[in-house]
Amino acid sequence: MIASPETQAPPDAAPALDYDAIIIGAGMSGMYQLYRLRELGMRVRVFEAGTGVGGTWYWNRYPGARFDSESYSYGYSFSTELLEEWSWSEHFAGQPETLRYLNLVADKFDLRRDIQFRSTVAAAIYDEQTRSWNVTLADDSRFRTRFLITAIGPLSTPTMPRIEGVDTFQGQSFHTARWPHEPVDFTGQRVAVIGTGATGVQTIQTIAKSVGHLTVFQRTPNWCAPLHNSKIDAETQRKIKSGYPEMFKRCQETFACFLHTPDPRGTFEVSDQEREAFFEKLYAERGFGIWQGNFRDILIDRKANAVISDFVARKIRQRVRDQRVAKKLIPKNHGFGTRRLPLETFYYEVYNRDNVELVDITETPIERITADGIKTSDREYAFDIIIYATGFDAITGSFDRIDFRGVDGARLKDRWKSGPQTFLGVLVDGFPNMMMLMGPHTALGNIPRSIEYNVDWVTGLIRHARENNLTRVEATAAGVTSWTDHVKALGVGLLSNEVNSWMTGINSNVDGKQTRIVARYSGSAPAYRARCDEVALRRYQELALG
Ligand SMILES: Cc1cc2nc3c(=O)[nH]c(=O)nc-3n(C[C@H](O)[C@H](O)[C@H](O)COP(=O)(O)OP(=O)(O)OC[C@H]3O[C@@H](n4cnc5c(N)ncnc54)[C@H](O)[C@@H]3O)c2cc1C
Repeated sequence: MIASPETQAPPDAAPALDYDAIIIGAGMSGMYQLYRLRELGMRVRVFEAGTGVGGTWYWNRYPGARFDSESYSYGYSFSTELLEEWSWSEHFAGQPETLRYLNLVADKFDLRRDIQFRSTVAAAIYDEQTRSWNVTLADDSRFRTRFLITAIGPLSTPTMPRIEGVDTFQGQSFHTARWPHEPVDFTGQRVAVIGTGATGVQTIQTIAKSVGHLTVFQRTPNWCAPLHNSKIDAETQRKIKSGYPEMFKRCQETFACFLHTPDPRGTFEVSDQEREAFFEKLYAERGFGIWQGNFRDILIDRKANAVISDFVARKIRQRVRDQRVAKKLIPKNHGFGTRRLPLETFYYEVYNRDNVELVDITETPIERITADGIKTSDREYAFDIIIYATGFDAITGSFDRIDFRGVDGARLKDRWKSGPQTFLGVLVDGFPNMMMLMGPHTALGNIPRSIEYNVDWVTGLIRHARENNLTRVEATAAGVTSWTDHVKALGVGLLSNEVNSWMTGINSNVDGKQTRIVARYSGSAPAYRARCDEVALRRYQELALG
C-alpha cells in the first residue's frame, strides 16, 4: 500500500499501524465483528476474497442451496430495527434470499466502506517488537494491525476429489461452492453429480426435473430427513416478528442454539408404540427436530441409535420403488445423525424417475474423468455437465491456507498438526492479539447464534484491552491445554466421534486429513457461554495481558 502522511513511519521508528484491527472474511462473522469494533471507535479493515459480502451465501449459489436452520432463527438478532424491517418469505430460505438479506445488512449499517473485496490474505506474521501483525495479501500488499481477527468460516474452503483427469473434461464443470453468478441451463443436458452430502442432496433434488439425464455418483450415502419447507403466510409472519425476543431466548437455552433441543426421555423409557409415534411425529415436522429434538440418547447409545436408524431406513424403503436402489441409499457405515444430517425435499423420490440413475462408486469406483465424461471400473459415461458436490476442507482448512506465524515465527499449521489447540476456540498461546471467530473448538450448532456470542465476547476483550492500555493479549499455555483437554473429553462417548466425517477432521481429498481429530466443541452452547462469561467476568485474568 502507499503510505498516507499519517501512516508514514517517522525515521528510525517502528512503522505506524495501518489499522487497529484487521478482520479476514466478510461472511456473517466478519460483518458483525466490523459493526461492533466500529462502535469502539476503531480503525478496522476487512479483507474478503470474494467480490461481495455474505461468505457461505455469497459462494454457494448452486441450485437448491438453502437453510436447514429455520430462517428467522438464523438471521442476526442484534438490531430490532433490522428484525422489523426484514421478512423471511419461507421457513427455510433459499440462498438468493439470504444473500439479499446480508446485502441489506451491509447497506443498512454502511459496512462496505471498510471492506476490501477481491483481497485474499496469504500470510499474517506477528511482530513482537511492535506487538502487531503484518498481514500480506495475495497481490503482495501489506498492512500492519494491532489485532487480527479471523472470520474465515468453518465451511469455506472447497475441496475437489482426487480423481485423475479432472482438467481434461471438455464440457462444463462446477464445484457447488464456486458456482457461477449466471444461471446454468440444464435443459436436456446429461449431468453428473459427484457427492451426496448436504449440498449434493439439495442439488440433486432441485435439478432432477430439468436435466435430460442425471447420474449420481455416491460413495457414502447419508441419512437424510424431510425438511418440510413452506412459505410463511401473513399471520405467521406477524407471530414471528412479535415473538422474536422469546424465540432468541429459546435459542440461547437449547443445546445447540436451534429451536429444537433433545427430548429428556431415553429411547427405551417409552413403549414401542409411543416411540414409533414420536419418531413419526418428528419425521413429519419441519427442520432438524428428528436430529436435535429426538430422545436424549440417540447419539450416544448404540442401541438407541440403531432403533432410529432402523426407523429412517424403513422410510427410505417405502419412498424408493426399486429396492436395490433403496438398499444403496441406506447408510451402512454410520448410524443416523452421527454425520451432519442433510434435510431433503423429495430427495428419495428422485430415484423413482426414469431420467435418474444412482452409481455406487464403492462397487464401481471412478477411475478417471475423461474429455467426454466419467470412466468407472465398469463403463464410460458421457456428460455435458459435471457437478462436484464434494464439500469442504472443514474447520481448519481455511486456517491451513494462510501462513500464520506467531511468536518466534512458529507456524499455526505446525502447531495444529495433530489437531487444533485453543483457549475457548478463540485464542492460541504464541499467537498474541489474534482472535478466531467460528474457529475450531467453538460451539457451532445454529451458527449465527454462536457468531453473535463470539463476536460480542471478542469485542469485550478488545474493549478491555483498549480501556486498560494493553497492547498484548494472549492465552496461556496452561489455558490452552486445559480447554483442549476439556473439548476432547466432551467428545468421548459420542457416536459421531467414531465416524469418519468432516466433523472429525477426515477428508480423503486433503493431504494430512486421514486421522480423526477433535476439531469441534461438542458440549452444550449454554455451557460454552458460561465458561466464556466466567473468563470475562474475572476481567480476563486467565489470559496473559500486557
Ligand atoms: C451450503 C451451506 C449451507 C449452510 N446452512 C447452514 C444452516 O442452515 N444453518 C447454520 O447454522 N449454518 C449453515 N451453514 C454454515 C455456515 O457456514 C454458517 O452458518 C455461517 O454462514 C458462517 O459464517 P462465517 O462468516 O463464520 O463464515 P463464512 O460465511 O464461510 O465466511 C467466511 C469468509 O471468509 C473469506 N475468506 C476465507 N479465507 C480468506 C482469506 N484467506 N482471505 C480473504 N478472505 C477469506 C471467504 O471468502 C468467506 O467469504 C451452511 C454452510 C453451507 C456451506
